[in-house]
Amino acid sequence: MDGEGPYRSSKPIPRFICIVCWKSMSSYAGPCRTCDVPRLDLSDPAVREQVRLEAEKRLQKSMYREYSVMALTSLAVLAPATWWLGGLVFALVPAVTMVAGRAYAALRRNSAIATFAARRRRISAELGIDVQLDEVDARGDRSPGQIKDDAIAHTSDVDPLQLEMEPLLVWLGAKLDD
Ligand SMILES: [Zn+2]
Repeated sequence: MDGEGPYRSSKPIPRFICIVCWKSMSSYAGPCRTCDVPRLDLSDPAVREQVRLEAEKRLQKSMYREYSVMALTSLAVLAPATWWLGGLVFALVPAVTMVAGRAYAALRRNSAIATFAARRRRISAELGIDVQLDEVDARGDRSPGQIKDDAIAHTSDVDPLQLEMEPLLVWLGAKLDD
């Protein structure tokens, strides 16, 4: 009728993204309204790589945040023990943090801790070796009572590493501006 074809009602496709705020996308080239820097072309492999890096950075950041909340909690839980253990209590904090963090990941859906556990499980399956270490647990001492990756991996819903570009942009919170 009006010659616009069958795709008339489909949504505009995001083709450019602002890599300063990571919030603004557009179908057209041009500056981000908030940051006033040009949005970059998502068809450029280097830009897509940037998107992946940003997602990875955010996931790590939330894992460290989850662990630091757990560290504070552990400290609060252990604090009353200072009267008989003294400064030794602080030596226990990392181990208790580890256990608390993993218990938390077992309960909460899609925590970053669980996402990394699920990822390690996939890598373990691919390599045929058991990869269990967290980045924050690189000292290599296994605390007894540690919750294994298997026990928490199932609470992970989404690993940005496995997302296609479009859902990944949604995961990052980027929205089509115009
Ligand atoms: Zn921006």
